[in-house]
Amino acid sequence: MTAIAHSPTPLHPKQDAAADVLLANYKRSPVEFVRGAGVELFDASGKAYLDFAAGIAVNALGYGDAGVENAMREAMECGIIHISNLFPSAPGRALAAELVRLSRFADRVFFCNSGAEANEGAFKFARRWARSIAGPEKHEILALRGSFHGRLFASLAATDRPNYRAPFRPLAGGVSVVERDLKEIEAAMQHGTVCALIAEPVQGEGGVRVLDTMFLRGLRELTQRYDVALIFDEIQCGLGRTGAFFAYEHAGIVPDMVTIAKPLAAGLPMGAVLVSAPIAQTIQPGDHGTTFGGGPFVASVALHVVERLGDHTLLTRVRENGQWLGETLRGIAVRAPGIRAVRGTGYMWGIDVQERAGDVVARALEGGLIVLTAGEHTVRLLPPLIATQSDLARGVALLEDALL
Ligand SMILES: *Cc1c(COP(=O)(O)O)cnc(C)c1O
Repeated sequence: MTAIAHSPTPLHPKQDAAADVLLANYKRSPVEFVRGAGVELFDASGKAYLDFAAGIAVNALGYGDAGVENAMREAMECGIIHISNLFPSAPGRALAAELVRLSRFADRVFFCNSGAEANEGAFKFARRWARSIAGPEKHEILALRGSFHGRLFASLAATDRPNYRAPFRPLAGGVSVVERDLKEIEAAMQHGTVCALIAEPVQGEGGVRVLDTMFLRGLRELTQRYDVALIFDEIQCGLGRTGAFFAYEHAGIVPDMVTIAKPLAAGLPMGAVLVSAPIAQTIQPGDHGTTFGGGPFVASVALHVVERLGDHTLLTRVRENGQWLGETLRGIAVRAPGIRAVRGTGYMWGIDVQERAGDVVARALEGGLIVLTAGEHTVRLLPPLIATQSDLARGVALLEDALL
């Protein structure tokens, strides 16, 4: 065996500011932003960029929001940023109570620090519950074709992206991806070994696919019939992005658990699992935990965010403007031969393009518009939820320049 070569690093290296000391796991954009205001970001030269990525659905309230700033200042008044989960804390309780109320199904809330962590928690809760009602054989977790649920071992196993998965096998066991087909899903459930099914009501990374209302209701029926916990992953599509606080509201159903994260604490890391009473009742002290989850500072900020994103005026505007955005994008698709399809709802849209989506993203950026991809050939739009119709119109015009 050869020893790993060790080249000593000086204690105080003269760091070239441009030297890349960050792990190369991200492909970074050539543009660096130094300031944000409302729906815009600015680079060091002062050039403005309209932001239709919103930190990947995180910055729902845009940049420099006075309410968020105020919530942060007030949260600091008591001097406690963190207190650990060894002690009770009022902001977390208040936030949980508000989320429970808005969910129309949940009884308890678990706080964590990211989306993947929320899904991993939900998987554990589903297994704990299923084991208590049916024993250890009932432990399998199903996820859908086109899904994205995170990058940790179990959430990655539930993510349908071969190139994200392949280098890290073996992934967590007992997790499999099934077609978005009720017959196939029922066949998988008939063995009695499935404890949970996880689905994004609107698949985000998988190309912005709005799951059909009848399909979602079908999932609800099957999961009820076979005693399977239905988990909705609303980390991207939840908290107002579809024009309802939770995307599942459009289908008139409720899940057994819902996971949320991205916009929850205005860019501070926070995730949550909302849990129904029957599942919550099977969770004992020691079953799960995390150091930072639901601390008073993040919870106070999130309480402000939830108030703002649950506001009916905002939600109505997202629905109406989102409909306008969809119609406008479909109009462009008729004129632009390079567009194959337009899918989405609310402030969440995907545009299938013939060329590489990354090339469209790069040209849009040059033109002053930030957009995302969702796979090789889909351009994804996730504007901040505070974007007005004229902001959207400006973005669509910039996008059209990048497309044609
Ligand atoms: C972003 C995302 C996740 C993962 O969240 P992280 O905070 O990056 O771990 C999981 N599910 C969906 C639907 C997402 O969009």
